[in-house]
Amino acid sequence: MVSRVIPVEPFDLVVFGATGDLARRKILPGLYRRWLAGQIPEGSRLIGAARSAMTPGAFRAFAAQAIDEFVADDKRDAAAEAAFLARLEYVAVDAEGQTGWRELAALMRDGVVRAFYFSVAPALFGSLAERLKQHAIADDASRVVVEKPFGSDLETARALNATLARHFQEAQIYRIDHYLGKETVQNLMAVRFANILFEPLWNAQYVDHVQITVAETVGVAGRASYYDKSGAMRDMVQNHMMQLLCLIAMEPPYHFDPDAVRDEKLKVIRALDPVRAENIVRGQYLPGAGQPGYLEDVENPESQSESFVALQAHISNWRWKGTPFYLRTGKRLRARVSEIAVTFKEPPHSIFDDAQGWRENVLVIRLQPDEGMNLKVMIKEPGPGGMRLVQVPLDMSFAEALGAEGADMPDAYERLIMDVIRGNQTLFMRGDEVEAAWAWTDPVIDLWDGQKPHDYEPGTSGPEEALMLMHRDGRRWREIR
Ligand code: NAP
Repeated sequence: MVSRVIPVEPFDLVVFGATGDLARRKILPGLYRRWLAGQIPEGSRLIGAARSAMTPGAFRAFAAQAIDEFVADDKRDAAAEAAFLARLEYVAVDAEGQTGWRELAALMRDGVVRAFYFSVAPALFGSLAERLKQHAIADDASRVVVEKPFGSDLETARALNATLARHFQEAQIYRIDHYLGKETVQNLMAVRFANILFEPLWNAQYVDHVQITVAETVGVAGRASYYDKSGAMRDMVQNHMMQLLCLIAMEPPYHFDPDAVRDEKLKVIRALDPVRAENIVRGQYLPGAGQPGYLEDVENPESQSESFVALQAHISNWRWKGTPFYLRTGKRLRARVSEIAVTFKEPPHSIFDDAQGWRENVLVIRLQPDEGMNLKVMIKEPGPGGMRLVQVPLDMSFAEALGAEGADMPDAYERLIMDVIRGNQTLFMRGDEVEAAWAWTDPVIDLWDGQKPHDYEPGTSGPEEALMLMHRDGRRWREIR
């Protein structure tokens, strides 16, 4: 299969926060890979901006080091790298002061797409937006990209939306949730809406329950101060897991069009029932295997923030009433795995007297590692002696099925940045969607005010209590492995 690269218009992309961790690990290496793939046209430029005084040459050396560190060896090409680095400029700009803005304005060109990536703390979004307008650097055709976290509750998200709306139209604002840039996440829509196979069964009549798991083996060290204020519910559930739930549960949009898709996602969020206290379990990892526990990692022995959360959600609409959605995410768990498992109901009647070995059909969509799908189906166990049933997987790794192209999928950030340049908002969150997600999340967080999470051993599936969340319904979590 031949990889298709769709070129974009020439652009000036200004990255505020260009000396930061996200720029170093994701944005700069990602843009280099797109350059190598031939997607970035000649005449495009990347302009780094941050407070640090730095020459363009020093910024190129910083970018070269980032490429060295975060781009795989088989993607290194000295000539391409030199040509890419030659596209980089740097301006020292203070988001909150007047330094650098005139110089930045002088660098901008007419006749190319102008995009501004706010890879800085959200507290700076307002002053950046204001100065971009004040110095006529951004106009009504420009695009701004904003990073997570988009608020820490409904009130702060509303305030951020209002700040951005003072300077930009909604159609100019690209709120990143990098999960939406993952190949398999988009594949959820292709699997559901480009095949007739699943959709007739995709409802409460045939689906017993859905499990969404995002498990990590790492702890919170390195992000401890941010994480301890946030916890898993704000860091993962309100955004990434909510997006996965929406893509699984939404109605078919009338077209694969940004607002049509986002309208349908919004309807799912609004149809979510409030979560009851008995349907949530929170946890904190203990020390173990030579690693500190959560409380040591965040250096706060009194912390009540959760590094694990499992909950049961219900969607009150015609399609899903009665089908629970179990969500679980955590740090320091047994394995790094993200997957969605749709478990179907029993056939209405078994024609086999001896239905030994019968198990439910399960469609597992793996986001990582080894992106792909796995459908568990029943067949006859080979051999004489009657009809015995056995469950076998129909397993498809996208990398294997798609050959070289599948093994070479762009990183989520690369794809999303190119979508910004293309002006396609489908994979970005709309302001009302983010607010609706907070409106559901806030009361959940209020439920545990003053309560300590359960402990769990590192390298496990989380607290025992989370197992009970499903056992009491006669269901089981899939193993994390
Ligand atoms: P970081 O490493 O702390 O970098 C912050 C950047 O902002 C630096 O380049 C800093 O440069 C610049 N900056 C700070 N104050 C400034 C000012 N007044 N004017 C201009 N520039 C200023 O943060 P980060 O990890 O890259 O995160 C950036 C954003 O991405 C945050 O919103 C974060 O929540 C989000 N995010 C990050 C990650 C990640 O993996 N890192 C993941 C998801 C989301 P100077 O000090 O030189 O000014």
